Amino acid sequence: MISLKRPKEIELMREAGRLVAEAHRRVREMIEPGITTGEIDAAVEKLFDDAGATPLFKGVPGKVPFPAVCCISVNEEVVHGIPGPRRREHGDLVKVDTGCRLNGWCGDSAWSYPVGEVDALKQRLMKIGEENLLLAIRECGRKQRWSEVAAAMETHVREAGFSVVEQFVGHGIGREMHEDPQVPNFVSSQLKRHDFRLEPGLVLAIEPMVNAGTKNVRILKDHWTVETKDKKPSVHFEHTVAMTEAGPEILTAL
Ligand code: MG
Ligand code: MG
Repeated sequence: MISLKRPKEIELMREAGRLVAEAHRRVREMIEPGITTGEIDAAVEKLFDDAGATPLFKGVPGKVPFPAVCCISVNEEVVHGIPGPRRREHGDLVKVDTGCRLNGWCGDSAWSYPVGEVDALKQRLMKIGEENLLLAIRECGRKQRWSEVAAAMETHVREAGFSVVEQFVGHGIGREMHEDPQVPNFVSSQLKRHDFRLEPGLVLAIEPMVNAGTKNVRILKDHWTVETKDKKPSVHFEHTVAMTEAGPEILTAL
């Protein structure tokens, strides 16, 4: 069941969202050749801890509980990569996804960062991925139902010659990180059955994942990391977005 948030609750979600945005600002400052994904994760963990916020990803149940505060996925890794001692090199494409709960309310955001300068394919993939997220947010203010937004997202990616990941989708968010509804970045028969209205009080984590090659992905032996089957790069962009009387508002921005 979809729970709509009151303006006062959205105000609290704005605080959580701002902290997640601050984490991303910190990540952007840190990312350069030689840094490890573990160092990035430790910096975000400290930032949340100093603010009295609870990280949302650490301990998420699975075959092994997720061990870190950020999912950090590199190049052909799509989502759910585990931070560690790997040093990042010039030309890597690093996706950082993180979230926290502050005063009982959640924020969730992901961004794709270049390490030094990335090649032309990765640059174009990043451009299309970011455009795709911003297009979705803009369309939320113009369309009545999510399926119309998802159709626009899907068309935008297809016209660029890239693929939309279908195995992972966005979600409602509030007191919990994952709430109803599911928010796919494409139109499926499932979405047609579970379509929803874009009305004030709805808060969504919108998170397109775009692959340079095919949409197919697989999960690695660590039980978490998702990578493209064809080993071509992938990007991920996510904001927590509130529908308000004044239109869509990005909560995970500074
Ligand atoms: Mg996320
Ligand atoms: Mg999310």
